[in-house]
Amino acid sequence: MNTAAVIAFLVVTSLYLEFEFKGLMFREATHDLETRANLVRDNLNEQEPDKIQEAVARQAQVAGTRVTVISRSGIVRADSEAIAEEMDDHSTRPEVRQAIREGVGTSERYSHTRHLDFLYVAVTEPDNPNADVIRVAVPQKVMSSRLQVVRDTIFITVAFLFLAGLALSFVLARYIVRPIEVVRTAAQDLARGNLDVKVEMDRRDEFGQLVGAFNSMGRELQNRVGQLEANRREMSTIMDNMAEGLLLVDAGGTVILANRAAESLLITGDKTLVGRPLWESVRLPEVDELLSSLPNLQEPRRIWVEDRTHGPQRRVLAFVATPLFETAQGEHHAVLLISDATEDQKLLEMRQDFVANVSHELKTPLTSISAYVETLLDGAADDESVRAPFLKKIQTNSTRLSKLVSDILNLSRLESGTGDESRQHLDLNELATACINKHRETAEGKGVKLNLHKAAQPVVALVNEEDMTEALDNLVVNAISYTPQGGSVDVSVRRTDLGLLLEVEDTGCGIPEDALSRVFERFYRVDKARSRALGGTGLGLAIVKHVAIKHGGRVDAESEVGKGSRFRISLPAPQPQAQRA
Ligand code: ADP
Repeated sequence: MNTAAVIAFLVVTSLYLEFEFKGLMFREATHDLETRANLVRDNLNEQEPDKIQEAVARQAQVAGTRVTVISRSGIVRADSEAIAEEMDDHSTRPEVRQAIREGVGTSERYSHTRHLDFLYVAVTEPDNPNADVIRVAVPQKVMSSRLQVVRDTIFITVAFLFLAGLALSFVLARYIVRPIEVVRTAAQDLARGNLDVKVEMDRRDEFGQLVGAFNSMGRELQNRVGQLEANRREMSTIMDNMAEGLLLVDAGGTVILANRAAESLLITGDKTLVGRPLWESVRLPEVDELLSSLPNLQEPRRIWVEDRTHGPQRRVLAFVATPLFETAQGEHHAVLLISDATEDQKLLEMRQDFVANVSHELKTPLTSISAYVETLLDGAADDESVRAPFLKKIQTNSTRLSKLVSDILNLSRLESGTGDESRQHLDLNELATACINKHRETAEGKGVKLNLHKAAQPVVALVNEEDMTEALDNLVVNAISYTPQGGSVDVSVRRTDLGLLLEVEDTGCGIPEDALSRVFERFYRVDKARSRALGGTGLGLAIVKHVAIKHGGRVDAESEVGKGSRFRISLPAPQPQAQRA
């Protein structure tokens, strides 16, 4: 494209130069011929008519041109290269007509006399009607050959200029334009994010230095971007591995940033929180209120929201909002931390229930003790028939109170995991035998048969003896308590693929199906009055459950109302080396 433009420019320039030269040559030749014509006219002045032909020939030789003398009427009086008499009327020749009019006339045209192209210049004295017109002429081919020389010179000059230009542009391209192009492309690559780009150029001049600076800039950029990327990855790893949901919201409540936990806590499916107002994704009025309070927040604010929009399960979410802060870009953002507080809430409620239950449970025996004591003090103590049963009632309630307190302490020790953690290898056969022996009398007194089915081999478990004894006691006491006279209680010790089993089966009243899953809850009783009458605290099975869990096992219950119940503690078999130790 550029080469074509250069060639076109050079062609136009050479044509213009030729045109200008041609004009100049023509003007020069015309001027020269005019001078010669004037000289010839001066020399021919007042020549005798018979000698004019001879004089014209002489003058033509001196002037080096063809010379023609023409009268004003157009008759050729003499011509240096033709016979005047044979020549036609020249009054119509343009140069002659112009000379008569203006004193000098010129014309370029074909000569019918000489059959050649000629340049004619004619002169005369316009004011003298008798003065002849002196015309000189040179063949055009003389000028053409000179023009050809000029044309050749122009062509050579132009060709030289073209080649020189070509060479110059090659040098420019090789040493300046191409390297600039290479650096420009590399810079564009860099801008597009290709930080590996490197310019290879073995030059020691300023350009080499520029390329060196460019490469080190690329390296520096790569380092910085690498560092930023590492920081970003670290941040996003931290954010994505946070258990809490983290949101960055603007003053209008639109989410700017959300971590994985926030997305999974607040939305379902493949929706996203980012870029949308939070109220659009989380349709909870408390959250709307929290967002609208952001501009006035002075210190972090925490709210708990019960969320039933996420399915049938009750869920409690905790939101902590920080006051708005100004970013480096001058925007106002706030951080929201979200966590699933369902379990915390449940625990809180359980604790509150527990405190209420404990207070209630303690209050009942205490109230009766104080009532009996008051009655005795009011004078009943003097009445023999009343004193003894009242004191007995006080004793029963005190025992109950003490059992309650000891059960509560036991349970809290088991739940908190503090206290005596020592364990030893014990044969569960022996544990069960001791338990049966302890309760045989009570069972017999109630008319309930107490049977033990030991395993043939020792069933050694790693247990805390006190806790496990307490658990088994609770099961056996319950079984005896809830089995009517004539029934039986069977305690079995077994080793199975499922682990080591301690089973207590009775033929008692049984437990309704809907209550079966709740009997392990603290203070849960199927029949409150009956339990109290039997001296129960409502904590026995809760203790059994915690002992089993603490030993890495579990407790299950099966029951049929009117037929009986079976409670089973499963424990893991100890590891062989632990058994040896
Ligand atoms: P309690 O001190 O009342 O016995 P537990 O926690 O030991 O408290 O038992 C909770 C409830 O489970 C009891 O009140 C009773 O209703 C029921 N229960 C426990 N064991 C048996 C059993 N072997 N047969 C029938 N009901 C039972």
